[in-house]
Amino acid sequence: LSQRVSRFGTTVFSEFSALAQKHGAVNLGQGFPDFDGPDAVKEAAQRAIREGVNQYAITTGARDLRVAIAEHAARFHGQTVDPDTMVTVTSGATEAILDVLLGLVDPGDEVVAFEPFYDSYDANITFVGATPRWVPLRPPDAAHAQWWFDWDELRAAIGPRTRLLILNTPHNPTGKVFTREELERIGALCAEHDVKVLSDEVYEHITFAPARHVRPATVPSLADRTVTVSSGGKSFSLTGWKVGWIIAPPALRDAIQRAHQFVTFATASPLQAAMAAALRLPEAYFTDLAAAYLARRERLMAGLREAGLKAYLPDGSYFILADIAGFGFADDVAFCRHLVSEVGVAAIPPSVFYSPEHRHLGQGLARFAFCKTDAVLDEASRRLRAKL
Ligand code: PMP
Ligand code: GLN
Repeated sequence: LSQRVSRFGTTVFSEFSALAQKHGAVNLGQGFPDFDGPDAVKEAAQRAIREGVNQYAITTGARDLRVAIAEHAARFHGQTVDPDTMVTVTSGATEAILDVLLGLVDPGDEVVAFEPFYDSYDANITFVGATPRWVPLRPPDAAHAQWWFDWDELRAAIGPRTRLLILNTPHNPTGKVFTREELERIGALCAEHDVKVLSDEVYEHITFAPARHVRPATVPSLADRTVTVSSGGKSFSLTGWKVGWIIAPPALRDAIQRAHQFVTFATASPLQAAMAAALRLPEAYFTDLAAAYLARRERLMAGLREAGLKAYLPDGSYFILADIAGFGFADDVAFCRHLVSEVGVAAIPPSVFYSPEHRHLGQGLARFAFCKTDAVLDEASRRLRAKL
């Protein structure tokens, strides 16, 4: 075992999906849709395979997909992207995140990110020998309608060794959607300290009005320093395809591309062809996706409420955090183990998305995914009502 991996166990997603299977539980744990992506996109992949798009793609990504990524960025975010100098296609956002860290961060550098964090951030920061500086998000309270952070804590986390700040909006698992004002202030801080930004936007199409996704790279103070990472997994309900991309100013994209060429070299070529078709789907596809998720959010919120759980209403993503502090369990892991084996519902214990120092902040919470069909959400609610 290398020292690098010695502190990693099995990811919480694999662990709880296996437990869900073992106990026949309804799986609201790992965030993958239990419905399929659009037929037109699946057919585009089949056509590409039939028509011989089966050898290596060029390492930066098939040109047509890079063009589609640029068109999509202009259509939905008003962002101008040169497909030849600003885009690299990756095997999911997960690879993109590693490539960004490998391309931009040296051993001994510091990386600032918010907690709770998507678990691969912490692992990937370790892989490149950098040190994470975590800034906790705090739950909504009398003074804050949404999850929030203390600006002094953010300022204190940024220092002379800080190379990168990782943002995730819409945020997994809190559902926070960073506002333009927050992004402008973050941009001013990053400009002052010459910090680059990795913006993970895999839930960019899953937001609930009045919240709106603002692409950080379109905020003037962030434009020159921000690397945008996204993927087709959530936007097209195709998480198993693992087609992602980075959009970055040419110099940053060049640095990241140097890493990408030796991490995977290229991403599955027929799926790249199909992802170009997905990104070009008409407006109605994207509004329907958000509307369907809004209905699912309401359905699960109601189910949790009826089961006596106080849940925080997410502005985006397909996750709900619920307060489990009153249920008498030692922590969120004990609660989620009980839930999966005795109640028959799998959820994720969010304390794994915190550093040891702030782990207690997640111990009174459980994360429920609502990227599931109505029947599954209803069955989960029924079990929670009956047995929790
Ligand atoms: N970032 C966040 C915030 C996520 O929730 C996920 C999980 N799906 C990813 C990145 C990874 O995305 P992909 O499946 O495209 O690798
Ligand atoms: N992003 C998904 C989640 O947060 C899981 C991804 C994974 O299994 N690594 O549930």
